[in-house]
Amino acid sequence: MSRLEGEGTGRIGSGRRRLGLVVSAVVLVGAGGWFAGTQVQSPADAAAAHTAPKAGPVTVAVVRPSLTASVVATGSVDDGRRVSAWTAFVQPVLDSPLLTVLTGAPVVRVLVEGGRACGVEVVEGGRTVAVRSAGDVVLSGGTIGSAQLLLLSGIGPADELRALGIGVVADLPGVGANLHDHALAPVVYESARPVPAGTSNKIEAQYFAKTDPALAAPDLQPVMSHVPLPVVGQDVPAEGHGYTVAPGTIRTLSRGRLWLRSADPGEAPALDPRYFEEPYDLRAMVTAVGQAREIGEQKALGEWRPREVAPGPGVVTDDEIAAYVKRNLASYHHQVGTCRMGTGPDAVVDPLLRVRGVPGLRVADASVMPAVPSGNTHAPTVMIGERCAEFLISG
Ligand SMILES: Cc1cc2nc3c(=O)[nH]c(=O)nc-3n(C[C@H](O)[C@H](O)[C@H](O)COP(=O)(O)OP(=O)(O)OC[C@H]3O[C@@H](n4cnc5c(N)ncnc54)[C@H](O)[C@@H]3O)c2cc1C
Repeated sequence: MSRLEGEGTGRIGSGRRRLGLVVSAVVLVGAGGWFAGTQVQSPADAAAAHTAPKAGPVTVAVVRPSLTASVVATGSVDDGRRVSAWTAFVQPVLDSPLLTVLTGAPVVRVLVEGGRACGVEVVEGGRTVAVRSAGDVVLSGGTIGSAQLLLLSGIGPADELRALGIGVVADLPGVGANLHDHALAPVVYESARPVPAGTSNKIEAQYFAKTDPALAAPDLQPVMSHVPLPVVGQDVPAEGHGYTVAPGTIRTLSRGRLWLRSADPGEAPALDPRYFEEPYDLRAMVTAVGQAREIGEQKALGEWRPREVAPGPGVVTDDEIAAYVKRNLASYHHQVGTCRMGTGPDAVVDPLLRVRGVPGLRVADASVMPAVPSGNTHAPTVMIGERCAEFLISG
């Protein structure tokens, strides 16, 4: 076994309170040896410490300080409290005369006059109110909200907008396209010993792995949870009596889309994620389930006497595993891409986050990511916000 270790602490944010991120990576070559001498307090720990032998070199990030120095907690935590974008960025400047915060006031349209964005319409107390801007308007409604707002404002595929009776401000076919996500599926175990309560918000550990050792970078990011995740048509153990190794894919090739069902801002848009349209995505998940099962069978988990509850002994062939995955697919909640950044005809925003064809309007959130990163999306989204602030300040 050889081990490389890297650890860094980056602090991002502004104002009195900052968002702290601790990043640690441990690269394991082979499996098993590294685990010796570490203190296992939970099956999720043990699973994280063992990598699938066939996966080749695997980068492991483990979120339990109970393990050795190789293991560093990751999270957005300050003084023992979870930090959100709100607590890190907005709360510290709430008393600024430059800031007005409206809550319970959905934005329903971007105001565009003379071809330039000049504000938004919000619904407040049942009334539609115009909020005007002397500078740029920045949308941060997220992968679903920002695309929906652009479409409601006449910015999107012209034919679709006209069909809904929405006047076209800018014909941008990319709005709502390119929707994608990371995917998860549960491999659930029953435990003979009580499984301790979690310490890290339902996910005790995670690791990065490859479906093929020849790949330059990991394409899997499975998670371990002390909670048995639900499985369609099957009973799973109660919390405290089982745990989950959940295979997750992070180099998604399939692309879905979002579109309006009507011109009514109160009607949620339609989504078709098309998760497994590209055959690679399903193949990768089937491989990941195999790796998760190898982890579940590791000796280190012996004392927990794990019994695989799902997929279970009846699910063996690739076709059977694929069918199980399709039945039990879960979103990783890392949706991105519906207002993709770029320079081609499908781009919605340019590299400075400006909406193409609509001066004065920018989008700054996960929707601008052209491709989902190979990792969680919160921190990259925060960085997009930081970059947007720099673009605005520098004019
Ligand atoms: C259950 C769950 C767990 C997650 N766990 C993690 C994790 O552990 N680590 C990680 O890195 N990422 C995680 N993510 C992903 C992460 O939260 C997102 O990638 C990130 O929040 C995206 O930020 P955003 O600004 O693009 O969108 P959002 O955070 O969704 O912000 C958009 C905001 O705009 C508001 N909005 C939308 N439309 C309108 C409108 N018309 N008018 C007014 N307001 C509007 C929404 O209510 C929302 O508050 C998780 C996501 C979910 C759902």
